[in-house]
Amino acid sequence: MNSINPAAWRAFAAAIGKDQVMITEEDRNAYADHFAADESKHEPAGALAPASAEEVREIVRIANQYRVPLWPISRGKNFGYGGSAPVTRGAVVLDLSRMKKIEVDAATGTVLVEPGVGFFDLYDHLQSKGIPLWLSVPGNSWGSVAGNALDRGVGYTSYGDHASRICGLEVVLPDGDLVRTGMGAMDGSPNWTLYRNGFGPGWDTMFCQSNLGIVTKLGLWLMPEPEAVAGYDYEFDKPEDLGWAIDTLMPLRRDGLIQQSPSIGNWLRSAAVMTTREQWTKDDGPLDDKVVAAIRDRFKIGWWSVQVRFYGHLDVVEASMRVLDRAFDKKPIQSKKPALWKRGDPPEGSPVTGVPVSFPLANANWHGGRGGHVGYSPVLPPSGDLAMDQFKRTYALYQQYGMDYHASFAMGERSLTNVNQILYNKDDPAMMGRVDSMFRALVADASAHRYGEYRTHIDYMDLVADCYDFNDHALRRLNTRVKDALDPNGIIAPGKSGIWPKGKRP
Ligand code: ADP
Repeated sequence: MNSINPAAWRAFAAAIGKDQVMITEEDRNAYADHFAADESKHEPAGALAPASAEEVREIVRIANQYRVPLWPISRGKNFGYGGSAPVTRGAVVLDLSRMKKIEVDAATGTVLVEPGVGFFDLYDHLQSKGIPLWLSVPGNSWGSVAGNALDRGVGYTSYGDHASRICGLEVVLPDGDLVRTGMGAMDGSPNWTLYRNGFGPGWDTMFCQSNLGIVTKLGLWLMPEPEAVAGYDYEFDKPEDLGWAIDTLMPLRRDGLIQQSPSIGNWLRSAAVMTTREQWTKDDGPLDDKVVAAIRDRFKIGWWSVQVRFYGHLDVVEASMRVLDRAFDKKPIQSKKPALWKRGDPPEGSPVTGVPVSFPLANANWHGGRGGHVGYSPVLPPSGDLAMDQFKRTYALYQQYGMDYHASFAMGERSLTNVNQILYNKDDPAMMGRVDSMFRALVADASAHRYGEYRTHIDYMDLVADCYDFNDHALRRLNTRVKDALDPNGIIAPGKSGIWPKGKRP
């Protein structure tokens, strides 16, 4: 599939070199979303891999001339949300993974990264230079530091809300102009990655989950290596324990004692990463209680599990542990395992200590065949009762559609993000026939309670955007007006987050 004007391909090749213009079938396949139920819906026309912001600007000018839709990605590892593939079939992927510059300021704990810098790259850079700064990494850390923050990805340390740690961007606008936000707007400012606001309106969040520009540099705050990390891995025996566990932790999250977002998740989180379904049962349909009990027994886990961690000075961390102990005093936990890491100990090798890992991606193998998953992630108020209610309704829908329940509730400062995965086998037509209607039923259920998703797969961006309906979708009108003003030819990521250019609106 390639409906791009051949003259445009030639112009792109002249701008960035023909080796960086990828239009064979193999190339198109490489940039497809292999987790998508129907990959062909998102097949790109090809991909371009510029090496610098100047080359990106040149590509944007050509794209405007020939009306070529571009889909910017950093490393394209956004699995479960679309990977490297565009919303619209036939768009051209703008692959920024060759742009890998890292500028760390060890003294201030900040870094300026280009989009191609992966979590492993940055980790290796800090380790090899002995710079005592820690990353916050997502569960699967193959992706890009910048791309993950721009898509509002999360991690497990106290710097886990990645978008909130962005400080300063360099952006190629849809007309090819180049801007720097915040203090970066002052040429040569030493404060670009230090002070967010700059002067006047702030634009950093405008480029998160949006299609209003192409980010070519991103400033990010990093956590100074703490003196200690301590906490507990708690296990809870019964599904009903979710409510009181959240109500025990949330006040400590809100008052600032707990600074990371503890994520309480069910037994399938471990089982799907470490094993495959056929190791437990040959039966279709939801897993029965005996299988669930066997899984829990094997991994010594509860129905729910949560890791709580404190980061910082040893004295403070130890005092925090005492407060946590008091909060859980006499609470009916199944078990708790203490964790303690002190400066000088070898790295713990886990995302809670900022070490990148990729093994959680193995959960795509749970059902066997060509595996995949799609994420369903509504946000709700931080209440145990509401979480229990949400859990029961979602669980019932998983049962109704014969799927295995895979869920977690991440505790933000003032909200819960209920991240669910629907794991599937793309080679099982009966299963695949249920996934789409199940997903739509879940979104409708959340929306009926006025909960919206924080992020979604490229198949469902319109569906989710549609739920944000105050005043007859005033937010969409605002997004569209900004889109039209900045990108009149509609060349950047049409359809991203349900924002469409003129003439393309569904
Ligand atoms: P990761 O490799 O970290 O998973 P991706 O490169 O897949 O991240 O990016 C996730 C999404 O974020 C992309 O689909 C795109 O919509 C957006 N995005 C990523 N990088 C950029 C960028 N440099 N400029 C604008 N949007 C971006």
